Amino acid sequence: MNILISDPIDEQAVRELKKFFNVLRKGEEAKADIVIVRSRTVIDRAYVNKAKNLKIIIRAGVGLDNIRDIEYCRKKGIKIEHTPEASSVAVAELTLGHMIAIARTIPVTAEGRRKCKWPREDLVGFELCGKTLGIIGLGRIGKEVAKRAESFGMIILACDPYITNSKHKMVKLQNLLKQSDIISLHVPLNEKTRCLLDKKEFRMMKKGSVIINTSRGDVINEDELIRNLKSGKISFAGLDVYSERLIKNSSLKKMDNVILTPHIGAQTIEAKERIGKAIVEKVKNFQKEFERK
Ligand code: NAD
Repeated sequence: MNILISDPIDEQAVRELKKFFNVLRKGEEAKADIVIVRSRTVIDRAYVNKAKNLKIIIRAGVGLDNIRDIEYCRKKGIKIEHTPEASSVAVAELTLGHMIAIARTIPVTAEGRRKCKWPREDLVGFELCGKTLGIIGLGRIGKEVAKRAESFGMIILACDPYITNSKHKMVKLQNLLKQSDIISLHVPLNEKTRCLLDKKEFRMMKKGSVIINTSRGDVINEDELIRNLKSGKISFAGLDVYSERLIKNSSLKKMDNVILTPHIGAQTIEAKERIGKAIVEKVKNFQKEFERK
């Protein structure tokens, strides 16, 4: 079978795949039986039409939003798989990392230190203990975030219309927005979650609340986010995901109340290894299944 590894994955996994399969170069979609992508490669109708032999798409990681036409893939008999469990801990730890960095002004402090400034008296942070954390989307990552935040003494509220039974206090989105000191997003991007936090939702938030987004940029109306960060309604944002447009926004670069990380949620040694192993297993299982037919 021919495999196209379209986005970078764990090197050990690549070596393992090369032992058993013919690994193609980018641009050779037409010959591929299996395509492996992360979040960069966009698979749309045109891609599928070009990849005439394609039988399975494996998304390394979670979130199928870059596979634009899932229905069309299904119609063509193309299977879609992902490695949903592999990165939950990594993303949850980064989420907590953003919270702590914001609470203790770590980026400003560290930057000041590099410039030999030591403005200790001005840098008074706040404690996470006792603060209310509103988790939007209590799935794999949301639950891992809740577990860690609880150990910090935070009060957890969660909103997830698809979960009926949870040990956490489940509330409606509007109540979560009104009550949370920190709001953290862990929903998939789809037509229902696009701009889930829009003008109306920002109006409901507490003055001075913090937003952390490690899910997908488009779940927030980014123009509203910037407006609210400028007005102080939102005191701080920690973002691992955002649109290209937001990055090009020059006013954002001048803002001290935003921490941007470049989509590194799953970028840990452990998560990459786990994702790599899961991919190799899925490819081998698929081949076995295919040979049996
Ligand atoms: P998951 O499917 O386990 O959890 C998502 C949860 O969101 C589900 O429980 C679902 O019921 C809930 N949900 C759906 N629509 C909702 C809505 N309108 N309001 C509230 N809740 C809603 O997925 P996961 O593994 O926890 O991952 C969540 C997302 O995180 C992924 O879809 C992906 O976009 C993102 N992610 C980012 C990185 C990164 O590098 N930053 C890495 C992995 C995943």
